[in-house]
Amino acid sequence: LIKLDKLSKHYGNHTVLDGIDLEVMPGEVLAIIGPSGSGKSTLLRCINYLEPPDGGHVTIGDISLNAAAAAGRSELSTLRRSVGMVFQSFNLFPHMTVLRNVSLAQERALGRSRKNADERSMQLLSRVGLADKAEQFPGRCSGGQQQRIAIARALALDPDVMLFDEPTSALDPELGLEVLAVMRELAETGMTMIVVTHEMSFAENVSDTVMIMADGKIIEKGPSQDVMRNPQQERTKRFLRAVH
Ligand code: ATP
Ligand code: MG
Repeated sequence: LIKLDKLSKHYGNHTVLDGIDLEVMPGEVLAIIGPSGSGKSTLLRCINYLEPPDGGHVTIGDISLNAAAAAGRSELSTLRRSVGMVFQSFNLFPHMTVLRNVSLAQERALGRSRKNADERSMQLLSRVGLADKAEQFPGRCSGGQQQRIAIARALALDPDVMLFDEPTSALDPELGLEVLAVMRELAETGMTMIVVTHEMSFAENVSDTVMIMADGKIIEKGPSQDVMRNPQQERTKRFLRAVH
């Protein structure tokens, strides 16, 4: 479903992504772990061209974009629309109700009527366990609830793939668990997911595949239990010892 060919990104003369080749199958859940500064967030942002990569190719479904020629192409907005993204900070609109937060982009990006958008929003709010918060303002919700609203908002655009960048790292552990439970359910429904995470139990038990990044490169990738329990690379072993 997703294929990256030699994806690269530089800031000045600093190479942040160094020719990343990666394939993610439909329904696959890929966890990305690695030290701070290794390029994990940049990789996610380059996949949907939130940050333009400066070399290589991104293919999602039947849309394929060459980094060098992507700017201004109509495929760019189609590609962006097929990717849902959830960040560490939830970025909800504080002056709008929870329901409006989830509905607004559906009206703007997909042209849904308010009624259809609200219906879809209520379905998704139920799915993340927050139907009763629809008429509240986000400020009245806990961090874990706000993150689940952000997940509902991303799902409301019917993405083919969901990218998560450390969705629980701003949360107290117990609130993080609520969010992880929603992500696990989403994984079980067959959603294709790429998750940058520090949650080693999510990487080991929920994701199908784990990939370790360092210095803008993939240093190891494989079935999650193999990588987490029996890493092959010295660098992976050191990293896992440090975080455990
Ligand atoms: P963390 O675990 O701390 O979130 P990360 O693996 O997500 O780290 P990135 O945020 O992708 O790392 O950053 C990779 C490198 O790129 C870092 O050295 C960072 O300083 C640099 N970098 C990221 N964004 C920019 C930018 N807009 N301008 C210049 N340098 C940047
Ligand atoms: Mg990051």
